[in-house]
Amino acid sequence: MQVIESVLEMQRWADQQRGHGRRIGFVPTMGYLHRGHLSLVEIARSRADSVVVSIFVNPLQFGANEDFQRYPRDLEGDRCKLESVAVDALFLPRSDEFYPPGFQTQVEVERVTRGLCGVSRPTHFRGVTTVVAKLFLAVKPHVAVFGLKDFQQLVTIRRMVRDLNFDVEIVPAPIVREPDGLAMSSRNAYLSPEERHAARGIFEALTRAHAAFAAGERAAQRLRDVAADHLSAAPLTRIDYVEVVDAETLEPVQTVERPAVVAVAAFVGSTRLIDNCLLDPAGVAQPATQQPIAVSHFEQCVTEGNG
Ligand code: AMP
Repeated sequence: MQVIESVLEMQRWADQQRGHGRRIGFVPTMGYLHRGHLSLVEIARSRADSVVVSIFVNPLQFGANEDFQRYPRDLEGDRCKLESVAVDALFLPRSDEFYPPGFQTQVEVERVTRGLCGVSRPTHFRGVTTVVAKLFLAVKPHVAVFGLKDFQQLVTIRRMVRDLNFDVEIVPAPIVREPDGLAMSSRNAYLSPEERHAARGIFEALTRAHAAFAAGERAAQRLRDVAADHLSAAPLTRIDYVEVVDAETLEPVQTVERPAVVAVAAFVGSTRLIDNCLLDPAGVAQPATQQPIAVSHFEQCVTEGNG
């Protein structure tokens, strides 16, 4: 696996791949990799010839009082995990090169970033779209994979790609969950054992809303309340939002007649977690907990209790 730190070197590597007719698949991450990230790598691998993963804890997408400084980092463990799944290149942009003094250009997607996480994190998505645009210009991917766990991020990136004519196919990846349903997240590492136990309430709340939907409920407010009532009763948990929104526009809906999502953000202790569940009138398959993907060597890379 080639480890690349400079933008120019990344661009030359990408040019070489393209020159040899190889399709580039790209998975941007903030590191502290878990099996959710790994599933994205596998999807990229299935759609491209060369796979690039980036690890960059992007300061622009953290608010002033958020966890940028203490965001979990484990570069050695991450490198080992990526080697074990035969990633071709690991891109590690340096913050001082990505955001040099005088940096003043940002990419902003407007409407879809206003609601949901945009309410409590008003500058977050601008940071995400700016860094993803920069990463796309460095890695030059044909296809990039984003997790459905960060649903609003996926919709925002899709909008940016359409609006700015990026020549990149955006592929969504299913949410990978722990056996009890908690969506895998690097931030789960912040949870105490009691909080980790309580955090299962988020998936339970989504499952209940989905069960009501599968039983025929289509009133968004009632579906929302099913999830919110369950979460309100969960220990150590405080709701940031529970909303039912259109899956494409992210606008609130009254009745679920087209694909919608129940989106949740909740603090468990002081850790803010997000999750969501699709409500598709065309097919109401249960939001099954997804068992971790078996990857033999991956397990050996656990260096700090992350896995
Ligand atoms: P992050 O490192 O948190 O920025 O995430 C990098 C990518 O991994 C994003 O596209 C996320 O949506 C995706 N991702 C994170 N957790 C999961 C998960 N549990 N299942 C699927 N994708 C995920």
